[in-house]
Amino acid sequence: MDWSTFPREKTNCILCGSNSFSLLSTQMTWPVVRCRNCGFVYLAERPSEDDLARMYSKSYYEDGDVGYKGYVNIFEQYHDTFLKIFRRRHRDLIKRANGRRLLEVGCAYGFLLDFLRTKYWEVTGIEISPLSSAYARDQLHLNVHTGSVESVNLPAESFDVILLLDVLEHLHRPFDTLRRIRSLLAPGGILVVQCPWELFHWEEVAEARYKRMRPGTIKPDAVPAHLYFFQPSSLEGVLRKAGFRIIGRQSGNYGAVRRLVVPPCINRGTAFERLLRYVYFRLGLQRLFYLIARLTGLGNGIIRYAVPSKDDVDL
Ligand SMILES: [Zn+2]
Repeated sequence: MDWSTFPREKTNCILCGSNSFSLLSTQMTWPVVRCRNCGFVYLAERPSEDDLARMYSKSYYEDGDVGYKGYVNIFEQYHDTFLKIFRRRHRDLIKRANGRRLLEVGCAYGFLLDFLRTKYWEVTGIEISPLSSAYARDQLHLNVHTGSVESVNLPAESFDVILLLDVLEHLHRPFDTLRRIRSLLAPGGILVVQCPWELFHWEEVAEARYKRMRPGTIKPDAVPAHLYFFQPSSLEGVLRKAGFRIIGRQSGNYGAVRRLVVPPCINRGTAFERLLRYVYFRLGLQRLFYLIARLTGLGNGIIRYAVPSKDDVDL
């Protein structure tokens, strides 16, 4: 599918409302910009909400142009790696949750929910894609609704944990979603948000410097499905604006699965570059860096735990 020819809409900065920005790069005709007022990084032009929703049908999970290439196959092939990630998620959740009623917003095929219910979580899912949500219901027999969290009818204050993993960067109306999530959280309930840190992350800055490019200009993943390119401060800014208070910070890495699915190409460029890539990717230097990054809060996965703040917030 050629997304460069799709109709587009212009948008302002979601964090401060400014329409003044500087262009960082153009990715497949889509402008990645930085807000001059607050520094938020986003797509200043994007496909319409309806067009993107249509993309989360088969093509997003199968073609690999913007999203994934064979999502279910990847999960089955690298099952053990995913299980390790899921176990860690479960351990992190039981440390913080005050109950077992869990909702995952944007649950895709439901693989995480399928795992969590074996650990005695009462799981519910919401997924916009008819394809993946049908799989979760029909193949995995999960309680998964098709639609958006705003459109699906669920009782207020009925969840102890709401997961929003790799979803916020896809949403046209993130504050509508976050407001609805606030109303679905039971007293003492927590929201868990995870987003990739794609631009201005240390690895992106290093790569850009090496290639004599400006930081923030390396191609991020999944344009134009990713509408925002969060950093820890901007993600927290969005959560605060939506009426949440941050109660926990954690760092993860997207490296493990990516390294398996798309092994980095070593043999290209000068002899020095090949040696550098070999040491970085094959001899485990990247893994060492990622471990240090995760422990120091600088991993490329930003994870935040949040609760509704007491003050009423105007959206
Ligand atoms: Zn701004």
